[in-house]
Amino acid sequence: MTKEDGHVVVVGAGLAGCLLACYLARRGHRVTVYERRPDPRGGTAERGRSINLALSERGLDALRRIDLDKQVMADALPMRGRMIHPVTGPLDFQLYSAGGDRAINSISRGALNNALLDAAEAAPGVEIVFDHRLVGLDPSTGAMTYQTSGGEVRADADVVLGTDGAGSAVRGQMLAHDGLTESLDFLDYGYKELTIPAVDGEFALDPGALHIWPRGTSMMIALPNPDRSFTCTLFWPTGGTSSFASLSSPAAIERHFATNYPDLPPLAPNLVDDFQHNPVGLLGTVRCAPWHMDGRVGLLGDAAHAIVPFYGQGANCAFEDVVELDRCLDETGDDWARALPLFEARRRADTEAIAQMALANFVEMRDKVASPAFQFGRKVEHALEKALPDWYVSRYELVSFSTTPYAQVQRRVRRQHRMLGAAVAGAAALLIGAIGTAATRAAAGGTSRRWPANRKGDA
Ligand code: FAD
Repeated sequence: MTKEDGHVVVVGAGLAGCLLACYLARRGHRVTVYERRPDPRGGTAERGRSINLALSERGLDALRRIDLDKQVMADALPMRGRMIHPVTGPLDFQLYSAGGDRAINSISRGALNNALLDAAEAAPGVEIVFDHRLVGLDPSTGAMTYQTSGGEVRADADVVLGTDGAGSAVRGQMLAHDGLTESLDFLDYGYKELTIPAVDGEFALDPGALHIWPRGTSMMIALPNPDRSFTCTLFWPTGGTSSFASLSSPAAIERHFATNYPDLPPLAPNLVDDFQHNPVGLLGTVRCAPWHMDGRVGLLGDAAHAIVPFYGQGANCAFEDVVELDRCLDETGDDWARALPLFEARRRADTEAIAQMALANFVEMRDKVASPAFQFGRKVEHALEKALPDWYVSRYELVSFSTTPYAQVQRRVRRQHRMLGAAVAGAAALLIGAIGTAATRAAAGGTSRRWPANRKGDA
């Protein structure tokens, strides 16, 4: 099936779905995007649901390719490093890149989605239909059923692409038709959003940093917003003695933050209300295979491979999916039956790699960033990056400031660590050897000193 005879339906007008519609329109496809929510433009955002995110090079690259980067980035706030907030003691600013010149960008999720909706709607051949929740799909024919406020409606398409997020209904329908297997690995951590408002119209914290309160079993981060507020995200276990479930009264909430996050309460006047009323979001990794069925149904973005948010890469990765699918359509002459498997073959290892790195980064952010050993390690890394730029590039730099495929990043970082380990071991061996030789010499010299040949009583 090629584009001449094809009508493409994209399910989900979130970040990936809107960008995908723009890319497909550019290829000349006729596209209908169905979204379960009402049109968010002009409306209000859902309370406490991830109102900003960090966009980095992969996402920017995807936007740049269709000239959307400048428009989308107009209100973005660059963050050049992490600001660590210990329980006591001074704040510690750690640059993300060796030269201090690279930044990830805090951007309003709503504004980004709205800009992409505008772009998709303006693209030739794209129609966006709101208030339509996919509830049924026959992958073999492309026949769909949507739930609307007026009841159920039916629709057809030659190709159906699911960009309907981590709880994807398209994936659910593929599963129901025995078209895939899936695994959902939920963390026993959830997240809750809290707000630090502007103080006298100014930011209450440095807006040039991503703020982190690493606390071992819990962690909080804060990203700046264009209205000069900060959105904090508290990550904490969902159950147990020290968890979201363990704080019920306002006094207990106040006590907890005063003890563990002492600089927060003075900056967050609505802390108790936010804590009591904002929902706890789930965090997990979605894996499924295959991502396509019957040559006409495919999954992209979180619907195919949702990851935990600790590398700030979910949306960036979803945007990269769109670029890769576009490339596969190029290479197959828009033959979906060949493009969809090719897309999966190209992206699977990369999405698995970022899923693993995102999980590992949770441990780094939660447990390690405040430790002197970690801080020393970062300084050594930056020194190596400056001294040997062709040989050593940090994982963070490769993930956030390049478009090097994630799986390649993982391999390169392992290789670098092996070489570094070998270099350190070699240096240590030389040092030990040198110390050993010196000790032997000293011992030999010492013998003559301790037992001089002319000592009284010697033979
Ligand atoms: P979504 O953005 O979830 O969009 C799915 C769309 O489909 C929605 O509009 C939804 O309403 C619609 N939909 C769902 N079901 C149906 C249905 N049945 N019918 C029709 N429509 C439907 N990523 C980053 O890159 N950087 C970050 O800093 C970052 N921070 C994050 C922080 C948190 C706390 C979380 C939870 C995630 C974060 N992410 C981040 C990840 C990022 O939000 C996701 O990876 C990204 O939104 C995925 O885009 P998507 O379009 O695939 O899915």
